[in-house]
Amino acid sequence: MLLHWHRRDLRATDNVALARAADECAVLPVFVFDDDVLAHASPPRVAFMLDALAELRRWYRERGGDLRLARGDPADVLVEAAEARDADGIYWNRDYSGLAQRRDERVAGALDAAGLTHERFHDALLHEPGSVTTNDGDPYSVYSYFARKWRDREKEAPYDAPDGDALADVRGDPLPSLADLGFDEPEAEVESAGMDVARERLDAFCDGPIYEYAERRDYPADGCTSRLSAHLKWGTIGIRATYAATEDAMDRAGSDAAREAVEAFRGQLAWREFYAHVLYFDPDVVTRNYRDYENEIDWRDDEGERRAWKDGRTGYPVVDAGMRQLREEGYVHNRVRMIVASFLTKDLLADWREGYDWFRERLVDHDTANDNGGWQWAASTGTDAQPYFRIFNPWTQGERYDPDAEYVREYVPELAGATPDEIHSWHELDPDERESVAPDYPAPIVDHGERRERALATFERARGGNG
Ligand SMILES: Cc1cc2nc3c(=O)[nH]c(=O)nc-3n(C[C@H](O)[C@H](O)[C@H](O)COP(=O)(O)OP(=O)(O)OC[C@H]3O[C@@H](n4cnc5c(N)ncnc54)[C@H](O)[C@@H]3O)c2cc1C
Repeated sequence: MLLHWHRRDLRATDNVALARAADECAVLPVFVFDDDVLAHASPPRVAFMLDALAELRRWYRERGGDLRLARGDPADVLVEAAEARDADGIYWNRDYSGLAQRRDERVAGALDAAGLTHERFHDALLHEPGSVTTNDGDPYSVYSYFARKWRDREKEAPYDAPDGDALADVRGDPLPSLADLGFDEPEAEVESAGMDVARERLDAFCDGPIYEYAERRDYPADGCTSRLSAHLKWGTIGIRATYAATEDAMDRAGSDAAREAVEAFRGQLAWREFYAHVLYFDPDVVTRNYRDYENEIDWRDDEGERRAWKDGRTGYPVVDAGMRQLREEGYVHNRVRMIVASFLTKDLLADWREGYDWFRERLVDHDTANDNGGWQWAASTGTDAQPYFRIFNPWTQGERYDPDAEYVREYVPELAGATPDEIHSWHELDPDERESVAPDYPAPIVDHGERRERALATFERARGGNG
């Protein structure tokens, strides 16, 4: 018998290590609540994870197996679980963060010491770190070059789920609650997890919205993105299955525009892989600027401004809508993530790590590589980042991508009665006009024009100029 250690692969279908183990012998699936990992977790993510685990356990039970659950240091509990069932060893899928890599080395050492076999598989990405490199064999730091090679590489087909008769006949353990794991209920309404939800979402997306993706993905009110991020993060859908669905969509595409839209969506999957590779080769980017400036960036530490940003009370409607979507749903649309991140790091000049920490706390789909990549992109400190002098104007961004202010009015009820013009020119209204349009909504806390100049001067000083 082999154990399959589930981690960020909470699914039975298209799971490489699970399929490989089931090819060889009976498999006993195990999940470990690791206190070191939980120390970095937050209520919305743990809620999603528990929901996904409940569905995975149901899946195994319906087929005569079960999911063993354990709590503690995986280096100890996995050895115990394997020895208790007289298993030969353990298979699992790789995770690419520095923390995960260190943990996996420790677990491998403990298994070696106990005389248990172990094997690790690439599963979370279509192309593992080290497989898409420059001609000199170095990791790419420019996305477009990476993406070109990534697209040309052949993609693996999805793996089948194990048959019921490959599952070890065991009784599983009760699933802990959030409180058992030491977490409060999340403030956000966390979306449903699980393989079925993920598959339905992927199919629904590939049946229609994918064909508008290139045109409409930047418009937060349209809802034409896949909303698969939490599923890809927790592995309730496999990446090969996701890609295969885009191949079917490509076959059905009836025009060049439709084919380009499918390609545009794949481009986002490539960003996900690009950032995973960046993190794998440079695990310190989690806390350090990827890109060095000559001098330190003079980040400001204004508690009041940061609080207004977190609370969605900056007086910048699109920024506030995004921050409230985050609070309410544990999710923010990508264009709006870029806007709120730019506002924090440029208009408020707050260190990107402040924003990253808040997103890590609040996002259901928080993924170290993507979140870090997104923040460092916005802060102009990342690989292939937004140049420091290209600073988003939140007023024109809001007007361009939410022209009818539908998104803003959905998340900022104080502005529900305001017209799109009033919302997009909120900063230009005088105090009496603001008072009559939306008395409970704040005036802008800062002047974008002034803050833009301050950010430019700050980054120029960081580059070694006089600013
Ligand atoms: C500041 C900031 C923080 C971010 N934090 C995260 C995060 O913690 N987790 C996360 O998954 N994404 C993050 N992103 C990327 C992106 O915003 C989300 O992946 C996307 O909004 C999720 O919605 P979706 O599934 O509908 O995306 P879709 O547009 O449907 O994209 C499909 C998938 O591609 C991947 N993807 C899309 N855009 C990106 C991107 N820019 N970088 C890397 N992968 C991408 C995601 O896995 C996504 O689910 C962040 C972006 C920014 C600017």
